[in-house]
Amino acid sequence: MAFNAKEYVHESDKAALGALKAIPGFQTIVKGFMKMFSERQYRIVNLSSHIRVSEKQFPQCYEMLPPICEKLGIAVPDLYLELNDNPNAYTAGDEKPFIVMTSGMINKLPQELLPTVLAHECGHIACHHQLYSTMGRIVLSGASSAATAFIPFGSLLTIPMQVAFYYWMRCSEFSADRAAVLCDGTADKMSTVCMYLAGYDDRIPMAPNKEEFMKQAQEYREIVKNNGWDKTLEFMYMANNRHPLTAVRALECEEWAQTEQFKKLMGDAYIAPKAAAPKQEESKNTVAKSAETGNATAKSEVSKNVQAAATAASQNKASQNTVSQNTAPKRDLPEDNENGDDLAALEEAKWSRKQD
Ligand SMILES: [Zn+2]
Repeated sequence: MAFNAKEYVHESDKAALGALKAIPGFQTIVKGFMKMFSERQYRIVNLSSHIRVSEKQFPQCYEMLPPICEKLGIAVPDLYLELNDNPNAYTAGDEKPFIVMTSGMINKLPQELLPTVLAHECGHIACHHQLYSTMGRIVLSGASSAATAFIPFGSLLTIPMQVAFYYWMRCSEFSADRAAVLCDGTADKMSTVCMYLAGYDDRIPMAPNKEEFMKQAQEYREIVKNNGWDKTLEFMYMANNRHPLTAVRALECEEWAQTEQFKKLMGDAYIAPKAAAPKQEESKNTVAKSAETGNATAKSEVSKNVQAAATAASQNKASQNTVSQNTAPKRDLPEDNENGDDLAALEEAKWSRKQD
C-alpha cells in the first residue's frame, strides 16, 4: 500500500502554508493565478525545448520513476531533461504535474542517487505542493523578470508576500525530503544528495564527512534559536540560492528516520539506521521541533515567523483588487469570501483528487 502524504507531511510545511493563506490578498493572488495559469504553456516549452524521458528515451532513467510513484500513490508524471549546468530538479503544473531534471543534476550525482531526487520531486506531487510552488516560483522570480506573463500580479507581490511564499517553499522541501526517505527506506541517500547540492563533488579527492555536515546544521540551529534570524533577511540572502539549507535538510532527514513516526510508516520494511545523527539539543529551532513532534508550538512559531509578513501585507489592501480580469477563467472557483472557505474547498479538492 502506498504511503499517505498526510501522514508524513512536515508540520512546518502545514503551518507555513496556513500562515501564507492567512495573509490578506493571498486568495486574490490564487484566484488570479488560476485564471491565468495555463499548463499548456509549460507543455509547449517542455515539448519544444526539453527531452521527454520515456521507455524509449533514456529508459534507464525512466524506469526509476514508476516504482517510486507506486510507493507514493501518485500517477507517473511526465519527466523531462533540461539542458542546464546547474544541478536542479523541479515539479510544476497542477492537474497534470510534471518533473524537470537538469543535465547538471544527472552529471553531478552518482546514478544510484537519482531515484532519491525523483522521489523528492514525486513527494512534492504527493503532498500537492505543485500549484502553490509553481505560484511561488513566479512570485520569487519577481514580476520584472521571467514572470512577464503574470505581470498583472506585480502590484500584489509585496515583500511580505514574497517572504511568506519563500518560507513555505523551504518548509515544503522537508515534506518532499521525507517522501524520498520513505522511498529509500533510509535517510542516508537523501542526506548524501544534500551534501552534493551543498558543494561536494566526486572530483574532490577527499572523502566527505557526513557527521561533520550534521554538526554544522546543529550549529546553525544554535545560532538561530530563540531570537532566530530575521525571516526577511533570510529571504534576501537565500531566495536566489537554488538549494538553501542543505545541511539542515540533511539533519532533518537523519533525525526523522530515527522517529517512531518513520518506523511506523515503514512497517515491516523498517531497517534501523546504521549510525545515529548527532544528539539533539533540548532547545532547537522551529524546524527541528516540528520534525520530531509536530506539536502545536511549532505551528505557533511558524505562524509568528510570517506574522510580520501578514501584518505588512494587510497594510497593502489598496493593491488587493488589481489582478487583471481580462483573461478567460480556465477553471471554476467558488465565490470570493473573506473566510478562506474557497481555499479550503480548493484544498479539499486537491487532496481528494484521484491520483491514479
Ligand atoms: Zn523540492
